[in-house]
Amino acid sequence: MTPLEPDERYSRQTLFRGIGVEGQRKLTASRITIVGCGATGSALASLLARAGVGTIRIVDRDYVELSNLQRQSLFDEADASESLPKAIAAARKIAAFNSEIVIEPHVADLTPGNVEVLFERAQLILDGTDNFETRYLINDFAVKNSLPWIYTAAVGSYGVTLNVLPGKTACLACIFSDPPQGTFETCETAGILNSAVNLAASIAATEAMKILVGADEWVRRTLLSFDVWRNERAEVAADKPHPGCRTCGEHEFPHLAGEGRPHITLCGRNSVQIHERHRPVDLAQMSERLKPLGTVRHNDFVLKFWHEPYEMTLFPDGRAIFKGTTDKTVAKSLYARYVGS
Ligand SMILES: [Zn+2]
Repeated sequence: MTPLEPDERYSRQTLFRGIGVEGQRKLTASRITIVGCGATGSALASLLARAGVGTIRIVDRDYVELSNLQRQSLFDEADASESLPKAIAAARKIAAFNSEIVIEPHVADLTPGNVEVLFERAQLILDGTDNFETRYLINDFAVKNSLPWIYTAAVGSYGVTLNVLPGKTACLACIFSDPPQGTFETCETAGILNSAVNLAASIAATEAMKILVGADEWVRRTLLSFDVWRNERAEVAADKPHPGCRTCGEHEFPHLAGEGRPHITLCGRNSVQIHERHRPVDLAQMSERLKPLGTVRHNDFVLKFWHEPYEMTLFPDGRAIFKGTTDKTVAKSLYARYVGS
């Protein structure tokens, strides 16, 4: 196969006047970070990789499961049966359709401790997460460093997105001064339509392209939400920072200091995560050790172990997720038994 000419690959996009040859060059020279590679993250990564964004860093610590395939468009059944980390599976899938761009997968959660490293040199951050703690962490970092970011969320048939251009528009904290309290709907309680996800991601990916090519006059300055089932749409003005905003007004960044530390949301699982031992685990060795006790399978990234009624997913850094219990004490004793200390 002869290599595709870059001109040929992006010819339909450069014909579009908003992008053009110059815009395409800017996309090629761009570097972005996508935080979370579930449903919205998959769609964002797919669209922006196909559009030719030159370097895309993908941060996600989760692994592919069968229940993801209904909406997480970068993954397939083989990824789920191998329990591949989403960041790795996404990088492989993208390389198959665009080998000319650079994908940097990071199997990690975004935390106050690694945010500087993971956002290093990024020109734009895209939100593919499923929790407000991480979004406030992104918002704090982005405002502090004058870095644009795009908030995107979807649940049920509902989608919402906001462009944050620090100093120019409202930030996330201008609009939601505190994370939503109490119970709010998540994809495990309300379910989720893949079409709502893809619409939210399509809008956010388009805004990303506008930001990256410098089409500032077209960048939307509202919080946009819609319901694809009820055919409802709403916009809330977000064109000015809120004068009393603690984040962009007062420059207080508690989330960067580790307050309200992001927790791991395990969407739709009867499960508990523990991290008892802080040294690496040799998954091949552990696999041999567990074989007499149940069914075990591993690759370079993850080990899966089934021992009725429990299922353990073990990562090389010693973190484990237990299914079949939500009791941390039970999980801890299982960990001690299976993995040791
Ligand atoms: Zn603000």
